[in-house]
Amino acid sequence: MSPNVREKRVRPSVVITAGPTREEIDPIRFISNYSTGRFGYEIAREAVRRGCPTTLISGPTALTPPKGARTTLVGSAIQMKSALDKARRGADVIIMAAAVSDWRVRNRSGRKLKRNGSALTIELIENPDIISSIARKRSRRQLLVGFALETEALKANALKKLEKKGLDIIVANLTGEGEGPFGDNIIDIMILDRRGGRQNIRGKTKRQAAKIILDKVFGFNI
Ligand code: C5P
Repeated sequence: MSPNVREKRVRPSVVITAGPTREEIDPIRFISNYSTGRFGYEIAREAVRRGCPTTLISGPTALTPPKGARTTLVGSAIQMKSALDKARRGADVIIMAAAVSDWRVRNRSGRKLKRNGSALTIELIENPDIISSIARKRSRRQLLVGFALETEALKANALKKLEKKGLDIIVANLTGEGEGPFGDNIIDIMILDRRGGRQNIRGKTKRQAAKIILDKVFGFNI
């Protein structure tokens, strides 16, 4: 019989990443993105509420971590990856809601860069795709959930990511001019799974959406 996380007598343990990463240029400046961490924190909060042992690995945000979650605060993508490498071992479910920076600065300066009247060139190199590396290393009983933020062709791009990154479930949302997924607003999402399951969720708060996502996750037979 295939294991079903909902049937486990003990509550499934959940690891969630949230927020942006910061890629430093020098000790003062960094490259980041608009992620507020809100969605990941709502999922962590809901997991705690359901009695799941919950680990939250968070990039820099203005939010207070949910009480009851074991929280590790990180800065860069590399730090997030090593925190997740430690936390993933005992996890039944791993949810990557973080907006990981795809690039980092090749030569971070140890001192504050000074202007000198000419242009500054910063070379960026790719960060590891954390979720793909977890997908390669995970045990068969671990459920892996990713997020996809797209500006176009939501379903097609999300399906491509689901497959390419080796995920079980992907939560996709669309963003574009004037319709941000960041922060407090009402969102529309699509939940897709590797068996062809599709669920369109419209007009929900992130708190409501977090509940729907965990219902889906805990009802999914690996
Ligand atoms: O490729 P894209 O960034 O759109 O994929 C989003 C999903 O991949 C999210 O779940 C995000 O947390 C994860 N990701 C990652 N490592 C990266 C970039 C994205 O784990 N370097």
